[in-house]
Formats: sequence, C-alpha cells, structure tokens
Amino acid sequence: MTNKKNSSQTSNDLIAQARRDKEEREKGYRERALKLYPWVCGRCTREFDLKTVRELTVHHKDHNHDNNPNDGSNWELLCLYCHDNEHSRYEEQMRYGSSTGGVKENHSAATHSPFANLKSLLSNKNA
Ligand SMILES: [Zn+2]
Ligand SMILES: [Zn+2]
Repeated sequence: MTNKKNSSQTSNDLIAQARRDKEEREKGYRERALKLYPWVCGRCTREFDLKTVRELTVHHKDHNHDNNPNDGSNWELLCLYCHDNEHSRYEEQMRYGSSTGGVKENHSAATHSPFANLKSLLSNKNA
C-alpha cells in the first residue's frame, strides 16, 4: 500500500503550490502598485528609480495582504524605513488598544474621601 506515502506527498505539493501562489500574488500586486503609483514614499516623499526601487515596498492600508483591489486603493508605496515605522505603530495600537472601549479605571470610587469631613466641619462652623 502506498496510499499513505502518496497522501503526504500530495500535501507537500499543496504546501509548495500554496507558497508559489502566495509569492506570485505578492509579486503581482507589487508590480501592479509600482505601475499605478509614482515611485515616491508616501511618508517621507523620498523618490526612487530603477536602481533603488527594491527599497520601495507596498504597504496594505488595512494591513490585509489578501485585500488587493484593482484600483490600488488599499496600497501605499512606502520606503523600507517608513514601512517599518508604520507597522510598529500598528502593532502598538493592537497591543495597547485604542482609547475607546477599554476598561475604565475608577479612581473616583476610592473608598476614602479626604474632603468628606471637611464639609461637615465647614457647615458646623457656619452654623
Ligand atoms: Zn519613507
Ligand atoms: Zn505594510
């Protein structure tokens, strides 16, 4: 029986195929983006030419690499440095969350209020 061997070979092929597909897709959108947009970093406005264009990268605005609309609306050309920067900012946002919807710290509900007695003292004095 060679069924087992065949099936593992098939899944290896599938993985290799998937990897090839992914590489081709990535190459595809990069080329499309480079045709669509001027070779300028969207952040630092550094300009690129045929010699330096490999330092220009395609960033996905929604960070979803599978979202590649034909009009290029999800792409942004960024130099390596600005691209790196963009991603570390995004990761920070993911890690620490935005200001909305988080658990609010409730300092005002502290059990001890230093002014509780002051008010009664004042009203006693006025009385
Ligand atoms: Zn840049
Ligand atoms: Zn990116």
